[in-house]
Amino acid sequence: MSSSRACPVCGDVRRQPTGLDPRSPYLRGRQYHVVRCARCGLLLTDPWPTAELLRQVYDSGDYYSTVEASTTDSSNRPLIERARGIIRSLVVRHHFALGGAGYRGRLASFVARRRFGWGPPGMSPGRLLDVGCGDGAFLLDARHAGWDVVGIETSRIAVENAARIGLQVDSGSLEDHPFGPAEFDVVRLWSVLEHVPDVGLALHEITKLLRPGGWVILQVPNADGFTARMTGSRWPGWDVPAHLVHFTRKTFERAVRTAGMLPMEIHSCSVGTMAGLHPLLKSTPGRAAVFLMDQVFDLLGAGDTLMMFARKPLDAGLSGNS
Ligand SMILES: [Zn+2]
Repeated sequence: MSSSRACPVCGDVRRQPTGLDPRSPYLRGRQYHVVRCARCGLLLTDPWPTAELLRQVYDSGDYYSTVEASTTDSSNRPLIERARGIIRSLVVRHHFALGGAGYRGRLASFVARRRFGWGPPGMSPGRLLDVGCGDGAFLLDARHAGWDVVGIETSRIAVENAARIGLQVDSGSLEDHPFGPAEFDVVRLWSVLEHVPDVGLALHEITKLLRPGGWVILQVPNADGFTARMTGSRWPGWDVPAHLVHFTRKTFERAVRTAGMLPMEIHSCSVGTMAGLHPLLKSTPGRAAVFLMDQVFDLLGAGDTLMMFARKPLDAGLSGNS
């Protein structure tokens, strides 16, 4: 099977079928396929959606309803959401204030690293860019912890909400932004790479934006996780056509290395997609069971998402990709 579109990581045009045919949660359940790059193994959505179709998906309102509600309007959020937000802020503050010292510090740093993508330890506050920052919940936590923060976000509503709480968020994209080379100590892309049409180009741009020795914090759905394997085409993580590429641990690492960064740590982190598999799992005991199973899959490295801390080499030069 071949396609004229070059693989965004290795450039190959040859594709292999996977037998995975997810339906879109948007566009009245339109059917897609997941195909594999014959050279590097990256999984891609097929057919590749046009920019026009993607705009239709993102503008439909179905899409952004799944994004964390604005921090400016927490009174309308369900109790469990608010509780999660409060716990996250507490954990992040303790992570930085205690620096991993003592029982509380170790616990805060463990949770900050495994659940909220804050790591690795010893990272002291500097300048941070959150690409696809949504309404800025992470930026707010980071600012409280002493970081100098800016964001990039394509959703106009999210940019306005972020501005209302005093956050500097640029409405551009990774192809079009006002930042200079080596400007950041940390760049974060949380649930973003799978939406980017050219992952290879995006990761090269991140490498440029980082100072030598700087870190990138990445999170993507894990197409090789337990729930994905169990449910095949029904796995909610395919999220076609909004998700253009789908990563496994191997292809995730390869994409980051190809862009000149060094993967230092990979954790698996589940987000409870198993709850969508059966009505019983949505009950309180069902959710508790899903939570416990998720912890086991995460320890085995087979959870719903993969988060990675990767580093630009110290000898990479100020703007080079080495
Ligand atoms: Zn490829």
